Amino acid sequence: MLSLLVYALIYLGSGLMAYNIYCYIRFARQIRQRGKWEREENLFYAPIFLLILFLIGYLLVALLGKPDLVIAGILSGGSLFVYLMILFVRQVSEKIYEHEHREAALMAAEESSRAKSSFFSTISHEMRTPMNSIIGWGTMAMREPGLPEHVKSHLKKIDESARHLLNLINDVLEMSRIESGQMSVNQEGFELRKMLEQINSIISGQCAEKGLDYRFRLSDCGENYFIGDELKLKQVMINILGNAVKFTPAPGSVELNVEVSPSDQQRYMLRFSVSDTGIGIDPDYLPRIFDAFSQQDSSSTNRFGGSGLGLAISQRFVALMGGNIQVDSSQGAGSTFTVTVMLQRDTAAAVEEAAQSENVSLEGLRVLLAEDMEINAELVSDLLGLEGVEVEWAKNGLQAVNLFEQSKPDYYDAILMDIRMPVMDGLISTRTIRSLSRPDAATIPIIALTANAFEEDVEQALSAGMNVHLSKPVDPDLLYRTLGRLAVKR
Ligand code: ADP
Repeated sequence: MLSLLVYALIYLGSGLMAYNIYCYIRFARQIRQRGKWEREENLFYAPIFLLILFLIGYLLVALLGKPDLVIAGILSGGSLFVYLMILFVRQVSEKIYEHEHREAALMAAEESSRAKSSFFSTISHEMRTPMNSIIGWGTMAMREPGLPEHVKSHLKKIDESARHLLNLINDVLEMSRIESGQMSVNQEGFELRKMLEQINSIISGQCAEKGLDYRFRLSDCGENYFIGDELKLKQVMINILGNAVKFTPAPGSVELNVEVSPSDQQRYMLRFSVSDTGIGIDPDYLPRIFDAFSQQDSSSTNRFGGSGLGLAISQRFVALMGGNIQVDSSQGAGSTFTVTVMLQRDTAAAVEEAAQSENVSLEGLRVLLAEDMEINAELVSDLLGLEGVEVEWAKNGLQAVNLFEQSKPDYYDAILMDIRMPVMDGLISTRTIRSLSRPDAATIPIIALTANAFEEDVEQALSAGMNVHLSKPVDPDLLYRTLGRLAVKR
């Protein structure tokens, strides 16, 4: 009985040792294939001879000797130990190999992306120099007196293509800077209204040229100073608005709505939404709209110009600012792009402005006052008269619209608007004024002066297009400060 157990253990140990030899040969082969080995190669095979010697020893003991239980136990235990060692070494080397492999792949990818972006940026820089000279000399040539018409037309086409190419180079350069992680956002104080004025003047010009209506509305809860990257934000807005103009045939309209609302103690949510009544976007293309070089229609480049990089860059800029861009579109009916960013308010600049607007003179301002109660109108006129402001009175919203429409652009510096009035209320009146197609319709400050001071009243006033809401009874100092801030051009 005992010798049966002894022999069983010995044969089990020998079998396991033979299996060990098989496992080890496979493992050694794998290792050899994965790396470049020189003299070490022989070392892999050395243990195989050792293991074979073990096996022969086992068999000799089993066949010739008269082993007892202790020897049989040691022999089979030895096989088990060798087996576990091989298993262990295999696992560890597998892990090391995988790790090294991943690191190498990562490094190669990084290296290739670095090489690619540095290649792009070098190439773009190099290409810009001759482009400037093509555009510059082209312009000089076009000014040459007595040029035949067809030469002029050829030069104009060269100029257009050169400018297009220059834009493309700039976009590629920018994209490569973003991708290589060299782009960061500035954190500097800026004035929101000033930025919007600049955007409006560019886009309203483009719209007028194409025969499109441009509407602008700002609901800003009075906060104007923020900390952020004004240049990048402006670039994003001009790009999205530029697309809206580009992809909207006349007659149509482009609208920019800006909402500013407090989010937490120091931060504000700025939401810019750009809507157009243009060709819209195919739902199949929508998921790829922010991909670099993507365009809905590959003939777009020829028909509309552009590179398909604008939105890719815009989205990356906004992401760098911690915000997002959303798109809502229905084909044939138009699109809405909404950019949302959270910005810190620039407390120092706001305090400085408050101090400045306290001292600013209102002398010579002309204000249109829409108010149905004569006694209220008189009071406001007298209060403003004290500061040298000239007030013209409209008895209701409709009269205010008419007076504004008949006046020359920039005749009025601001409009004070009651909300509840007969014939036409202040909300409709404001909407009508904002939708007029004259340069100051979008920009003239409209101040709500009303007894309705609930939150929804304020919201309604702002969403109708008024800039701020002041509640009655009017605080004269606040009225002066508000006019100083919004109406006085510095
Ligand atoms: P580009 O305008 O240079 O082609 P963009 O990245 O700015 O590149 O836009 C990518 C594509 O998205 C455009 O080619 C167009 O097909 C589509 N697109 C963008 N904005 C609009 C829009 N307002 N209406 C319709 N299509 C749009």
